[in-house]
Amino acid sequence: MALYVQKFGGTSVGSIERIQAVADKVIGYRQKGHDIVVVVSAMSGETNRLIDLSKQINDNPVAREMDVLVSTGEQVTIALLSMALEAKGCPARSYTGGQVKMLTDNVHTKARIRSIDDEKMRADLDQGRVVVVAGFQGVDEDGNITTLGRGGSDTSAVALAAALKADECQIYTDVDGVYTTDPRVVDKARRLESITFEEMLEMASLGSKVLQIRSVEFAGKYNVPLRVLSSFEDGPGTLITLEDDEVMEQPIVSGIAFNRDEAKLTVLGVDDVPGVASKILGLISSANLEVDMIIQNTAECSTTDFTFTVHRNDYQKAKSLLESNLEQLGAREVAGDNTIAKVSIVGVGMRSHAGVGAKMFAALAEENINVLMISTSEIKISVVVDEKYLELAVRALHTAFGLDAEEA
Ligand code: ASP
Ligand code: MG
Repeated sequence: MALYVQKFGGTSVGSIERIQAVADKVIGYRQKGHDIVVVVSAMSGETNRLIDLSKQINDNPVAREMDVLVSTGEQVTIALLSMALEAKGCPARSYTGGQVKMLTDNVHTKARIRSIDDEKMRADLDQGRVVVVAGFQGVDEDGNITTLGRGGSDTSAVALAAALKADECQIYTDVDGVYTTDPRVVDKARRLESITFEEMLEMASLGSKVLQIRSVEFAGKYNVPLRVLSSFEDGPGTLITLEDDEVMEQPIVSGIAFNRDEAKLTVLGVDDVPGVASKILGLISSANLEVDMIIQNTAECSTTDFTFTVHRNDYQKAKSLLESNLEQLGAREVAGDNTIAKVSIVGVGMRSHAGVGAKMFAALAEENINVLMISTSEIKISVVVDEKYLELAVRALHTAFGLDAEEA
């Protein structure tokens, strides 16, 4: 017998039929003797609908009222799911974030969780009830409703699992797990049995949007085993957990992540003196633009070139900003390219294997793919390539690192 926190996303509770199916699934677990706390999102599309309503009044509505508005979506689904459970003979009780004292700071629309009071939930579980909690919402010290940012129900679920010391936090969604890469790009992509928190963070931040990134950070910090699995099909899903020292045969690379929305800018001919990088990046960050990779060439003579990447949507803004400050930066010229993409190999196994980079570059060279930028971390190597080679690069690396599924 275990205690599971089970989170169902918007698609999984998108209609009455689907809510009934969730109730059946939960009851299946109850019948095996497990204790269940369910966390639900709003019905799919509902949060967007509410945001859209507010925009019809004001493009920039008061954040406090925004939270009062968007938190209603989850209040609907906790009630409906609890009714469905009761109707099927399974005792259940719903709670809003405020009712379980999901205490957050007061940063409306992107609040952070501080503590949770598990007393009521424990009492319900002891009495054989399923506890159904609204995701995405909390309450600040003064009793104001807060929300945790888009996709925040994942984080609610993990926080509840941590507070209740649940055996597992299960995230039910419309995919059946975490894949070695996007199956739409590589048809031989495989579902991973397990992946570490660190790897998942790299995969998620690079665009595999299965889970809200914050929920993975939270799970890692409190060591909550997290499982991603399908609402619609039975299967083991993917377990996200701590690195397992006992597994001798860690694969070197667990997955290939990629991101198309990249652009690069090069500031040419800046002086090779202290403070130049700070000036360039200071300018960019003062405009609230986020920088990803950064490269500075070794100086020949007394000048050097400085290259960095930004989100493609920020490209024009960053370029104009640099161009209008050429003199101040002491630069000759600004060059750029907004048709690039980033591909990364991710794996904790890299720590204990040499030659991973060499293998990666060999696989790319074999396909005649030119590498424009490189950056590395302990468990990741990223390259920037021309956007038109992205899919080829992902496929080549997927094969080179032995990730392809065997033919059925
Ligand atoms: N309903 C919220 C959203 O759409 C929270 C969630 O689904 O996780 O962002
Ligand atoms: Mg979601």
